[in-house]
Amino acid sequence: MRRHLFAFTFVSLPLALGLSAATAGSHAAAQSGRSVSAPSGIEIDALDRKIDPCTDFYQFACGGWVAKNPLPADRRSYGRFTELQERNFVVLRRILETSGDDPSPGGSGSGDRKKAADFYAACMDEGKIEAAGLTPIGSDLATIDEILNPDDLPVLIAHLHAYGVPVLFRFGAQTDLQDAANQIASVDQAGLGLPDRDYYLKTDARSVELREKYVAVIQKQFTTAGEPTEQANADAKAVLSIETAMATAMLDRVKRRDPANREHHMTINELQALSPNFSWRKYAMAAEAPPLPTINVAVPDYVRALNSLITVSAMNVLKAYLRWHVLRESADLLPKAFADANFDFFSRTLEGQQEPPPRWRRCVTETDQRLGEALGKAFVEETFSPKAKADTLQMVQDIKNAMRSDIDSAPWMSGETKKAALVKLEAVVDRIGYPDEWRDYSSIRVTRDDALGNRQRALQFDRKRNLAKIGQPVDRGEWSMTPPTVNAYYSPDRNNINFPAGILQPPFYRSGRDAAVNYGAAGGVIGHELTHGFDDQGRKFDGQGNLRDWWTASDGKAYEERATCVADQYSGYAVDADTHVNGRLTLGENTADNGGLRLALLAYLAGPGAKNSSKIDGFTPEQRVFLGWAQVWCENSRPEAERLKAATNPHSANKYRVNGPVSNMPEFQKAFSCKANAPMVRTSACRVW
Ligand SMILES: [Zn+2]
Repeated sequence: MRRHLFAFTFVSLPLALGLSAATAGSHAAAQSGRSVSAPSGIEIDALDRKIDPCTDFYQFACGGWVAKNPLPADRRSYGRFTELQERNFVVLRRILETSGDDPSPGGSGSGDRKKAADFYAACMDEGKIEAAGLTPIGSDLATIDEILNPDDLPVLIAHLHAYGVPVLFRFGAQTDLQDAANQIASVDQAGLGLPDRDYYLKTDARSVELREKYVAVIQKQFTTAGEPTEQANADAKAVLSIETAMATAMLDRVKRRDPANREHHMTINELQALSPNFSWRKYAMAAEAPPLPTINVAVPDYVRALNSLITVSAMNVLKAYLRWHVLRESADLLPKAFADANFDFFSRTLEGQQEPPPRWRRCVTETDQRLGEALGKAFVEETFSPKAKADTLQMVQDIKNAMRSDIDSAPWMSGETKKAALVKLEAVVDRIGYPDEWRDYSSIRVTRDDALGNRQRALQFDRKRNLAKIGQPVDRGEWSMTPPTVNAYYSPDRNNINFPAGILQPPFYRSGRDAAVNYGAAGGVIGHELTHGFDDQGRKFDGQGNLRDWWTASDGKAYEERATCVADQYSGYAVDADTHVNGRLTLGENTADNGGLRLALLAYLAGPGAKNSSKIDGFTPEQRVFLGWAQVWCENSRPEAERLKAATNPHSANKYRVNGPVSNMPEFQKAFSCKANAPMVRTSACRVW
């Protein structure tokens, strides 16, 4: 999600319509409907009993599931998360397709619910999309064509940003990390077409080939839009050259993980001095931004580099670049030729997905992204019980208690730092299910015959909301995930943990099933998010969300040594012959997985597990906690998708989200009676939390 600069999520589920839709498949519902759920909640069918859990716990917990669930052609990956997401999508689809019956106030055909249904209907109407051709972006393309010199750029860029085309840089509101109760403006690097700067800079054969294919898709879209072939060729190469220059100046993902590297508060005059060729005042005025006393310029070197790209002689290159991004961002809601070409490169080549997902699934995704709380309200009414909320709150309390005693007993922390850590822990706000106040979408105009226009107006609404925050106090009630989302997050700048209704369902949680499995799965998610407050990034924020060092120097050093152990452990994991997990990129998530699973186990043993030692399905309570965690990660995915994930995603490959944490835990070794030399027993186990 882009809305928060800082939100540490449980997984990264790409939800962009068409482009990288990792959303659910029609085969999925049937498959999950067949799976046999034992009384414990463990999926017995998912196990692979041929392998010793001490040799490869992921294979033991998931091998059966992996064998029975081959990847559908319209998926780049498919796992237990996607199974659940598919079930949520079926509910959302029904809501969207049946809304409209009752037009009375509050009825299914009134207000936001009708708006969401109209939005979905327009997205589904391929005939109208085909007939409209390039009309919905015609005036933008014409405006780009007309600009003559750099003075024209600020107004045009502000206009494109308002419609969600992230060219050249990103401008918006962020929490002031020096004073986390308030919000300031921020300027950050953005605007590449490939997934990461490394895709432009790496020189291996695969990277070179990907860039050739990237140039080919740009060329194809330009030609389909009416450019002569030779011109389109030259323009596509120009796009690659300007994006390569941008990429070269960008801060890489690992350096970006240190929030201090993104903190450069400036006045607008100081920002202007970095890039005299681009008028920031003109841009701010065109964007209708509030006054900007302070701007956080995340990457000053990037702004300097932009300046050298914005020159009179580069205008044709810039125009090609802007045209490409307008086409790229709109392609999935343009005629089929554009949508297919985008899919072919961004989903098939980059992620290995063979076929586009069915249209309904893409349009549910699109509606969830643009009008998420309109749709989410109806979803919550149908799916989220007060019992689920009460159970989750209980687990949160138990896990906070476990964290409290974990901090208390940490042998490597001084009393002074422990005290500060406990103050932060007490300040963590937990939010379950859905927002207290629903967003009001009444100002967005939605029609049943203008899919792209609807999207643009929804994005414009988001943009207005975002810019209005500059100079205002932080709205602590706001969520950055929609209620049906199968995910969770921690915001370090707000110090809150958030669990949308969408994830508080099987396989994560089921009312009445064995508590060991609920704690291993849902409790593990809660522990994961709570641990983010104390991972290598989170620990740099205080309980109020300020970027403030509350560690003694020696405790900070001890922390970094422990974190380095985790980073080195995961860097050793291979996801493909020539691709490894990046231990520094994934450090925060791996720390959260390790801490989360341990806290879930401790909380279970101190809570419901204290009264329960009997076996279910042949497994002890401790074993069931570990299996509850492991079985949410069962997944098949394509090598292309795994490589993309390793390059860009702060989360490790699923297999290591299971085997990484358990192999660090003496509790696991004991629970499964593993020999000291077993692969799931690390001789030098890492532990932060
Ligand atoms: Zn996370």
